Amino acid sequence: MSNWDVEKIRRDFPVLSQKVNGNPLVYLDNAASSQVPNIVIERGSEYLKNEHSNIHRGVHYLSQKATTAYEGAREKVKRFINARDVKECIFVRGCTEGINLVAYGYGRKFVGEGDEIIISAMEHHANIVPWQMLAEEKGCVLRVIPMNQRGELIIDEYEAMLNERTKFVSIVHISNALGTLNPVKQMIESAHKFGVPVLVDAAQSVPHSIIDVQDLDCDFLTFSGHKMFAPTGSGVLYGKQELLETMNPFMGGGDMIRTVTFEKTTYAGLPNKFEAGTPAIASNIGLGAAIDYLNSIDRQSAIAYEHELVEYATEKLSAIEGVKLIGTAREKASVVSFTIENVHPHDIGTILDQQGIAVRAGHHCAQPVMQFFQVPATARASFAFYNTREEVDVLADAVQKVIEVFA
Ligand code: PLP
Repeated sequence: MSNWDVEKIRRDFPVLSQKVNGNPLVYLDNAASSQVPNIVIERGSEYLKNEHSNIHRGVHYLSQKATTAYEGAREKVKRFINARDVKECIFVRGCTEGINLVAYGYGRKFVGEGDEIIISAMEHHANIVPWQMLAEEKGCVLRVIPMNQRGELIIDEYEAMLNERTKFVSIVHISNALGTLNPVKQMIESAHKFGVPVLVDAAQSVPHSIIDVQDLDCDFLTFSGHKMFAPTGSGVLYGKQELLETMNPFMGGGDMIRTVTFEKTTYAGLPNKFEAGTPAIASNIGLGAAIDYLNSIDRQSAIAYEHELVEYATEKLSAIEGVKLIGTAREKASVVSFTIENVHPHDIGTILDQQGIAVRAGHHCAQPVMQFFQVPATARASFAFYNTREEVDVLADAVQKVIEVFA
């Protein structure tokens, strides 16, 4: 194992030291929501105690403080993902809102009847349903990149799918159900040869890899704060400025306007045009603090450590008779999904919970993935850099016990 000081890191996350059902908590549901470090908790508390106010509109002291903190968080996001300008960083409630915003603001303006939108066979519902809604409304066609039995996209088929009717590609970076890491940079390059913009669903990749939007050359990229050690309600949509400027606003209301009369409204510039109403001020300031936290640790080592944990968990679980891993891609991150012969994943989840182990059991909002692998659901252990090798051992022992209970 790498020399990652996991015990020191764990002390930053107070929730991890509790007992659940008489056992030390083993938190392996990070792909759903990760835990929050002290620095984020303290920043949120400081805001609520001393700075809470509405932003942008007030001339008074507290409003200016809150605005400075909120816009400071945007600046941190910009540096964190290497956007060219803060105007390209829109605060949203999370990845779902980010994708809906693009399907609405870009899709409804630029995609028409007979046009094609490409997604993949391993998308989260958040990256399927908004495009389906668009397809129903506009008469465009949704095309789906297939995957193989390992849970890897068949890139040749994707390349063959791109044509002059393709108007948009929206693709997940790391699958939440399978852990597959997709070659998005290469996929973006291919789409750009046809002049097609690409959105990257980075919900799972922002916490587990280093994202550089300029290097990826993605046109849009979106992620949720609560999966990257920040509070719920925070999140970001990155978009290239020239595209965001051509798009329609998603929601209308306060803060997104320049002038309003009963005859006509003109819109504010970026990023406000896409931030109607009072945003999640405290949560997004917390997102800024989570970025500070990530900047304070050695991320390359954290990523390498997580990788070792996933490999170790894969090795331990696949050695147990009756366990089947779902998703065995060569490039993977963070997630180990599995089933146990003759045991429903919900039962696995419930029995593990009795031992203080939090895993997710279900379709992980990726029902087409379950249909592809012909399973009703899976149990999913998902890791963060505060998990330990010992926790993997506890998980493997508990899975063994589940098998014994149902034998
Ligand atoms: N995309 C992926 C890959 C996800 O894992 C998730 C959440 O699990 C989402 C999108 C939706 O994120 P949220 O519910 O935070 O909007």
